[in-house]
Amino acid sequence: MTTLDSRAPFVLDTHEIARRPGTQREFTYSAKAPAGMGVDMLGVPEGSDVDLDLRLESVMEGILLTGTASVHTSGECVRCLQEIDGEVTVDLQELYVYDDEGEEDDIARLQGDLLDLEPVLRDAVVLALPHNPLCAPDCPGLCAECGARLADDPEHTHGEAVDPRWSALSQLKQGNDRPAGGTDQTGRESGPNEE
Ligand SMILES: [Zn+2]
Ligand SMILES: [Zn+2]
Repeated sequence: MTTLDSRAPFVLDTHEIARRPGTQREFTYSAKAPAGMGVDMLGVPEGSDVDLDLRLESVMEGILLTGTASVHTSGECVRCLQEIDGEVTVDLQELYVYDDEGEEDDIARLQGDLLDLEPVLRDAVVLALPHNPLCAPDCPGLCAECGARLADDPEHTHGEAVDPRWSALSQLKQGNDRPAGGTDQTGRESGPNEE
């Protein structure tokens, strides 16, 4: 177990209420988001503001933390890759048990009077973020033929006719594919190519 640093932004000192069941403390503050908080396509930018509104209540076994955290999110739409930015507010709730209470390993524990908010915040944010974020619920994605973003161009169609830009390109390509010689003045030697 790592030792908590009381000056770290998500470490809270509960000495005012620890071991005094029935007492509580409410407070708000902002801290900078740690790295790597979020899911693949959407996350909380490192260093962005996390706004916390917290209540710590002293209970028999430890300290009950409840409250909310508001975070900025940034990522990409999974269908059209457009950047998406937003905000999400998550509920936090965790009972931090005194380090000399009980035997369980998989519970949150105080270290002395200190508790670490960061794992609880991380879990709450990951649960709240969509794993397949979209720029809009009905994002039509990208054109399978040309990669255009369909939301920008809802009438987009290729149909039978080839887009004039592509038709010009294909004519160019045919021109380049003509065998050397004739009107080709580039000086390339015709004959077998080493390939
Ligand atoms: Zn999209
Ligand atoms: Zn297209």
